[in-house]
Amino acid sequence: MIHFEVDHERCLRSQGINCRMCVDFCVMRIMGIKENRVTVSKPEECIFCTTCQGNCYVDENVIKLWDDENPSLTPVPVTVKKLAFGMLRESIS
Ligand code: SF4
Ligand code: SF4
Repeated sequence: MIHFEVDHERCLRSQGINCRMCVDFCVMRIMGIKENRVTVSKPEECIFCTTCQGNCYVDENVIKLWDDENPSLTPVPVTVKKLAFGMLRESIS
């Protein structure tokens, strides 16, 4: 099962900033805001795409994702994703 945790102290919402970047980028539309905190309503529907992590306005460590049935599965670091995306762009231009 995939687990989802937000470091609420580092999330911008704790500073009164109305950020919802991660929520808006969730591929499965399972994230939301409840009592001014980022939540996931149906973690069982999470596909572990890490888009929410990668689009966090602070950094990729504010949102933690892990799968206890598959502990070796770890989110791809954002820096690697950016590098891969840059290479992809170069290859098609
Ligand atoms: S990993 Fe993907 S599907 Fe899961 S909560 Fe984040 S954006 Fe949504
Ligand atoms: S993108 Fe980051 S800072 Fe913004 S609401 Fe989501 S967890 Fe908080």
